[in-house]
Amino acid sequence: MATASRRSRDRGSRGEARLPLPSVRGADQMTRPIVLGAGPAGSVAAMLLARAGAEPILIDRQVEVGDAICGGFMSWRTAASLRALGSDPLTLGARPVTRLRQYSGERVAEADLPEPAYGLSRKALDTALRASAVQCGARLEIDRARSVKEGEIEGERRSWHSPAIFLATGKHDVRGEARARNSGNLALGLRVRLPPSSELERLVGDAIELHLFEGGYAGIVLQEGGNGNVCLALRKSALAEAGGDPWDLLRKVATDNPHFASRLALADAEEPVDTIGAVPYGWTARKTSHGIYRLGDQAAVIPSLAGEGMAIALASGQAAARAYLAGESAELFQRRFAQRAARPVRVAEKLWHLAETSRGAAGLTLAASAFPELARLAMKMSRI
Ligand SMILES: Cc1cc2nc3c(=O)[nH]c(=O)nc-3n(C[C@H](O)[C@H](O)[C@H](O)COP(=O)(O)OP(=O)(O)OC[C@H]3O[C@@H](n4cnc5c(N)ncnc54)[C@H](O)[C@@H]3O)c2cc1C
Repeated sequence: MATASRRSRDRGSRGEARLPLPSVRGADQMTRPIVLGAGPAGSVAAMLLARAGAEPILIDRQVEVGDAICGGFMSWRTAASLRALGSDPLTLGARPVTRLRQYSGERVAEADLPEPAYGLSRKALDTALRASAVQCGARLEIDRARSVKEGEIEGERRSWHSPAIFLATGKHDVRGEARARNSGNLALGLRVRLPPSSELERLVGDAIELHLFEGGYAGIVLQEGGNGNVCLALRKSALAEAGGDPWDLLRKVATDNPHFASRLALADAEEPVDTIGAVPYGWTARKTSHGIYRLGDQAAVIPSLAGEGMAIALASGQAAARAYLAGESAELFQRRFAQRAARPVRVAEKLWHLAETSRGAAGLTLAASAFPELARLAMKMSRI
């Protein structure tokens, strides 16, 4: 099977020109697919490639798996994909989440989630997925890519060559294949953790909380060990407007949002606030370079309000590995995946635009409180 699929891959399913084999050192490097980035998208792709005997090389810049800035809300779709891949969120320590609680100013609305979801730190999830990829036979290499082009990754340690590169560097762009920054939707992400406490349990419990306010939102969920994860997405300019100090920005948001303030009061003010700038919400790769399969946030960036980025990461990792193994070109995979991601990304963008104005946020909260079914429908429509 491996031989047949390799032959058809060389031809390209749409007759695209075959990529000339690069002049490289080791023979194995000429054919082994390379996955760049061991986040959820890359690890899953590497896992499936390894299971099929394709002997992938998985490259990440970090030796120690970090705790990526993320809301840490694992949708029921993400959880289902994870189970299908052989990991149960509960065995990773995830906290069940059964309700959505939405705030704007003093207003509160609550709705049951269509299906149970989870709160899990990215450190726990990414560690488990990376370990599974390695266990399945992916060769893990630590290097930081400086640039990528067809057939070649220029790393800090060395250069890597392969006719098939799976670009899974997530939030981080790599020179040569950086995402276009032409959307007006660049967002800033902030994250602060809350230590476990009975007050935090009482306030948040088994809900995913969305605090909507002018210019953005905060998502709060409990994760393994009862830790709280507070993650905000705001317009990119918000930090500069608050004087450049993330804690000042958090306090500013708390001033007008009493429910958010009561949660933030449980944070240790000595804790650093993690930040990530210029997340291109709504960006989708409809095209790609020959032999470069784009995954996760390098394939489509769904506004984080939907809590579906990890599901997109897993879905694209699986789809790209299958496409490669079936001999499908990267170009065809990318077109197909863009079509698949279009509806959830569009719905999430609409919700994000509504939520980031105080009127829209109030309207959304009123609608969710009068018609919880509407909130559930919006949640379903924004799933991959
Ligand atoms: C504020 C915010 C909140 C969010 N909240 C949620 C949520 O609650 N639920 C949800 O499902 N999604 C959420 N998301 C989206 C989610 O975080 C992403 O969609 C997801 O992390 C994408 O996974 P990935 O594998 O594509 O990339 P990443 O998780 O970003 O992983 C990329 C990997 O590539 C490595 N890497 C990067 N650059 C290089 C390089 N040059 N060389 C080598 N290695 C490199 C990194 O070390 C990392 O391991 C949120 C996003 C933001 C911004």
